[in-house]
Amino acid sequence: MIAALLLLALAQQQPRDSTPPEAYYGVTEWRAARAKLEPLMEARGFTVYIIGDMEGLAAAVRNATEMRPPERGGGPDHARFRLELTDEINAVIAGAREAGATQFVVNDGHGGTLFRNTLPDRLDPDAILIRGYPKPIVMSTGLNPGVDAIFIVGAHANAGTAGIISHSFAFDSFTVNGRVLNEAGIAAFIGGEMGVPLALASGDHVLTAETREMLGPIETVTTKIAMSRSAGAGFAPARVHAELKTAAARAVRRVRAGALQPLHLSRPYQVRFCMRRSYDPWFVGQVRALRGVRPDGGDRCFAYASSSAEDVGDLLNRIEWIVLKP
Ligand SMILES: [Zn+2]
Repeated sequence: MIAALLLLALAQQQPRDSTPPEAYYGVTEWRAARAKLEPLMEARGFTVYIIGDMEGLAAAVRNATEMRPPERGGGPDHARFRLELTDEINAVIAGAREAGATQFVVNDGHGGTLFRNTLPDRLDPDAILIRGYPKPIVMSTGLNPGVDAIFIVGAHANAGTAGIISHSFAFDSFTVNGRVLNEAGIAAFIGGEMGVPLALASGDHVLTAETREMLGPIETVTTKIAMSRSAGAGFAPARVHAELKTAAARAVRRVRAGALQPLHLSRPYQVRFCMRRSYDPWFVGQVRALRGVRPDGGDRCFAYASSSAEDVGDLLNRIEWIVLKP
C-alpha cells in the first residue's frame, strides 16, 4: 500500500507528455501507411493479414511477467512467449498456405512491448512483418482491400469479462451502433468496410465464444480455459499449433468459397466508449480534448460519429498514443 502511494506520488510529479505523435515520427495518417504497404503486396493471389497479440497464446496467463521484457518492468519469461507468439503465427501461415494463400502480412499487435514481440528471424520467410510504435490504426496498420482475410492469434477476451487478462485497448466498454466489439471485433469492423472478413481468432474460451457471438461462425481455436483473469487450464503448445494450422486452412477455404462474410455496419457509425476506470483524470482529459469526441454521460464516457471505419481506427490510435508512450 505504501509502495503504491509512493508510486502514485512519483507519477504525479512526472511531467506529462502531450506531444502529438506526428512530432515523433512524421506519419500518423493511415492512408500513408496503406500506400506504403500496398506496393509490397502482389496484386494476385490470396493475402492473409495476421494480427499477433499475446494474452491468448497457449499457456500465457500473466501480463506482468510473460508479456513484457525486463526493461519495461516484465520478466525473462517474455522471451519464451515471444517464441510462442512467433510459432503460433507460423502455424496459421502454414495452414493458410496449404489451402492456397500466397501472401502473409503480420502486424505485431501487443502494446505492452510497444508492438515488438514477434521474432523476425524465426518468422516464416514469406511474411511481411509490421512492428514498432507508433503506427497508424494500432492493430490494423496498413490493412487494405487487397487483403483477402484477417486472422487474429493470441487474442484476449473483452474488457469486463472473465477471460485471461481481459481488456479492450484503453476502454471499459466500446460499441459501434450499439454493438459491443472486442479487439478482434474492431479489426473485423475496419476490415469489413473494405470487404475483408475476419476469418480466424484464437485465445481462451471466453475470447473464442464472445468473438463467434459478435461475428458469427468464424474459425476459432481455444488455447486454454480461463479460471480467473490470470489462471487457466491450458492445452500444450504443440497441440495448439496443430489446431491453428488446421483451422487456418479451413478459414482460407471458407473465405474462398464465399462462406465467411465481412462485418457490415451501417453508416454513419455511432461510436460510444468509456475509458478505463483505472486511468487517472489526466488521461481522460486528454481524450476529452480530441477532435470530434463528445461527452456521453459520466466523466469518462464519450461518443464519436464517423462514416469511416478507418477514421474510427485512427481515433483508437490517438487514444492509444495518450495512454501508451515509447
Ligand atoms: Zn496484448
